[in-house]
Amino acid sequence: MATACDMRKNVQGHPCFGGNHNKNGRIHLAVAPRCNIKCGYCTRRHDCANESRPGVTSKILTPREALARVREVKESPVLGPIIKVVGIAGPGDPLANEETFETFRLVGNEFPDLMLCMSTNGLLLPEKIDFLHNLGLHSLTVTLNTLDPEVGARIYGHILYHGRRYTGVEAARILIANQLAGIERAARHGMTIKVNTVLIPGINDDQVPLIGSKVRELGAFVMNIMPLIPQADLAHIVPPSPEALETIRTANEKIIGQFKHCRQCRADAVGLIGRDVKLAEAV
Ligand code: SF4
Repeated sequence: MATACDMRKNVQGHPCFGGNHNKNGRIHLAVAPRCNIKCGYCTRRHDCANESRPGVTSKILTPREALARVREVKESPVLGPIIKVVGIAGPGDPLANEETFETFRLVGNEFPDLMLCMSTNGLLLPEKIDFLHNLGLHSLTVTLNTLDPEVGARIYGHILYHGRRYTGVEAARILIANQLAGIERAARHGMTIKVNTVLIPGINDDQVPLIGSKVRELGAFVMNIMPLIPQADLAHIVPPSPEALETIRTANEKIIGQFKHCRQCRADAVGLIGRDVKLAEAV
């Protein structure tokens, strides 16, 4: 029987998944402003803290404006040849915004060669994953900070789920169950999956190896352990030192591949990772 690894889509050309990130670029489309959960380290004044560079606020595009931006980039002599991936990573949670699906539909129809990529907190993943598969989603990032609802209750303020607001352990239990079910189903569809974990010293350190083992078993490809940026409800926590982060990543490497070149791209990034360009300069 084919395993999730055997079925995984080809990552050649995807700069975040082992494709040459010095040669292959991506464009992020900021079409998703709303979010359906409250992470303790998020202020919501800026782009989603699970994925984006701190302190950056992207301008929201409509799906039609997003398509126009992709056209512009593909026509650019500088960017056109290098852009291989179209991603939606916020500035809120892509799955809490219908505009995400419309944007993927428009871009996928006109540019079938571009890989579609998305980042999510995972709350709505089980109910949306088949639809995303049908839209041609290639790769997926899910932020998963704990497997333990008691720990989750210390990280998440609330979730908004099917018209209800949940808090505490109950909220975390729903969120974690959906994140895991979503990852498993995405892997069955052959998607390439990265799991982001925000390392919050004193809260989820012990969870990191457990998360690594679990998501590997479910079919994730790589894990990205990110240092906490102390703000909002978790402003009092001292973030991990670069050395502590490196130690944890090295230990975790024995469990699942570690993603170390993440630059926490903004939700409207375009170009090569770490070398974004202003669109006006490139077209
Ligand atoms: S998922 Fe992202 S935007 Fe939503 S609360 Fe968490 S960090 Fe903020």
